[in-house]
Amino acid sequence: DAPAKIIDGKYTAKVIREEIAAEISRMKDAIGIVPGLAVILVGDRKDSATYVRNKKKACESVGINSYEVNLPENATEEEVLKFISDFNDDPAVHGILVQLPLPSHMNEQNILNAVSIDKDVDGFHPLNIGRLAMRGREPLFVSCTPKGCIELLHRYNVEIKGKRAVVIGRSNIVGTPAALLLQREDATVSIVHSRTKNPDEITRQADIIIAAVGKPNMVRGSWIKPGAVIIDVGINPVEDVDSPRGYRLVGDVCFDEASKVASAITPVPGGVGPMTIAMLLSNTLTSAKRAHNFK
Ligand code: NDP
Repeated sequence: DAPAKIIDGKYTAKVIREEIAAEISRMKDAIGIVPGLAVILVGDRKDSATYVRNKKKACESVGINSYEVNLPENATEEEVLKFISDFNDDPAVHGILVQLPLPSHMNEQNILNAVSIDKDVDGFHPLNIGRLAMRGREPLFVSCTPKGCIELLHRYNVEIKGKRAVVIGRSNIVGTPAALLLQREDATVSIVHSRTKNPDEITRQADIIIAAVGKPNMVRGSWIKPGAVIIDVGINPVEDVDSPRGYRLVGDVCFDEASKVASAITPVPGGVGPMTIAMLLSNTLTSAKRAHNFK
């Protein structure tokens, strides 16, 4: 059989960023408004700092103004809430993002609830997730990683309606919203999690697999129905003595095995990762357009 087609997230994200940049300059020319994204980072986790830096760079590349707040690890919840409240009131800010995870002395729920749902470009506010789950309701924003997964399926003309989809993982930020989105697109969805019995048997029924677990190479070739389409969200460092950094990144799906069985698959890196940031930019643009009633 032919090897799976590569679903190129890096390329697709670049195309989307170009579309966003064009829209932003059209808006700027027409009404003089530029979208703004505020990012709040608490503490000095290296990975979080890298994510924030990449988001800032991506904003600059499309013409979004970014506003960054860096608070020390020992900042109080009240300080974070004050920044959120100021950004909620600031008309130059159309999106607010609180980089997770927060230090353990802070209540994540209080903080995410404080972000105005009109500026919740991460889509983590319970009202936005609740609307996503309800028939006939529209969330103002959908969280970026699952949205990026669905966007890849659309742009690669993968039919979702009527298909069997399996989402592996049920986190609030990836697995659950991914399953809700697939259901909204008329797939029949099963969710596999850490207590699922026979996850391989269930996964083998899927025409579309979204894996968001955080376990390197967990999904083997034998779990995959021939011709299935695979979106691998996992980003897992594994030791690699041949790499200058001493490690390399792999997905939750064993790529070498899966690419012999599937019809299409995302690579790691270069699959879902770049799409996540592209969707953040897209949500920020959508928010600015909505705030200024710009069509
Ligand atoms: P979480 O740790 O929050 O959730 C993992 C999920 O996987 C849980 O629902 C858990 O089940 C389930 N799980 C754990 N072990 C198994 C198992 N053996 N079999 C079946 N299910 C299992 O992770 P996230 O959702 O935040 O992230 C998942 C992966 O995606 C990570 O590798 C992360 O780095 C990556 N990621 C990538 C992003 C991107 O931009 N590409 C963005 C965000 C995350 P249970 O609920 O029962 O505990």
